[in-house]
Amino acid sequence: MRIEEVTLREIRMKLIAPFQTSNERMEERHIILVEAKTDGVAGWGECVAGDAPFYSPETSGTAWLMLREFVWPMLRGKEFAAAADIADLLDPIRGHNMAKAALESAIWDAEAKQKGVPLAKLLGGTREEISSGVSIGIKDSLDELAAAVRRELAAGYQRIKIKIKPGKELPQVKRLREEFPGTKLMVDANSAYRMEDWRLLKQLEGFYLMMIEQPLGWDDLFSHVELQKMLETPICLDECIHTEEQARAAITLGACKIINIKMGRVGGHTMARRIHDLCQNAGMPVWCGGMLEAGIGRAHNIALSTLPNFTLPGDVTASKRYWHEDIIEPEVTVSSQGTIRVPTGPGIGFEPRLDLIDKLTVRKERLV
Ligand SMILES: [Mg+2]
Repeated sequence: MRIEEVTLREIRMKLIAPFQTSNERMEERHIILVEAKTDGVAGWGECVAGDAPFYSPETSGTAWLMLREFVWPMLRGKEFAAAADIADLLDPIRGHNMAKAALESAIWDAEAKQKGVPLAKLLGGTREEISSGVSIGIKDSLDELAAAVRRELAAGYQRIKIKIKPGKELPQVKRLREEFPGTKLMVDANSAYRMEDWRLLKQLEGFYLMMIEQPLGWDDLFSHVELQKMLETPICLDECIHTEEQARAAITLGACKIINIKMGRVGGHTMARRIHDLCQNAGMPVWCGGMLEAGIGRAHNIALSTLPNFTLPGDVTASKRYWHEDIIEPEVTVSSQGTIRVPTGPGIGFEPRLDLIDKLTVRKERLV
């Protein structure tokens, strides 16, 4: 295989409603789309980096620069046997996983289209549908939070995740447990706590949460090891896991009992798959996180979630939860049982809506 040319587009999309985590509020996203022509076939990828470096050090601005100056030049003119080889070709670039994943995933899509198979199959996926949960941002009031949960459960979603921050966690969880005792519930702190806050987290035990996601520092594996020893509730790591080596360390040291795999955070499908396999061999379940993706990224997440060890509901939801109009045809929909059908067409199985993408594009560059 050989990549002939790459087109970068930056699109601007307004979220249906602002999304609030412990450390940022998002109303609009700048998303980089990557179209990679590979042996005459166009594959599509989406960069999950945010506008600001508040989730990870990368931003959509740094990703654009890295794609143009380093990622693409490293692949230009290279022959490779399969998309699975791209991760190792890009290994000399340290970090910048979201930039790498955007192009790497586009090549996976192109290879699946060339072979006429769904991307899920090419990745080794075994599911025909995936289980869908929702992530609910921090709300101004408990009533507003409870109303949001009620709405999502009525729509069929299988598990509820709420964002928390110090001081807000106990009233939130208490309220939801009173009203929704049987619901699969988990919390995500996005690194808002420090080890000294352990009592705040300890008081959440007894509410039978499925897990507490990323309570401590975004790069602090050691403190999670200490915290997991003090908690019965499983810790799930998100921000801390950017590489296979970090996943291995987390598993071996006991920093968590569950890992949230995000393809963008770890550098693409190949790395996501390696971490998936590592967890599977260690008997640790994984699930697929979300990054407020538009349709292309959403489609890649669906394909990834079909791997056998994605045994917990992920954050991959219907397009309409985030966007008035998504950039793919058809949009992603969720059944009343909270499941998403995995498309059976070649590649990601959704068509990019070029007319809409053109309308939303604020920057475009062709790399040859
Ligand atoms: Mg998270």
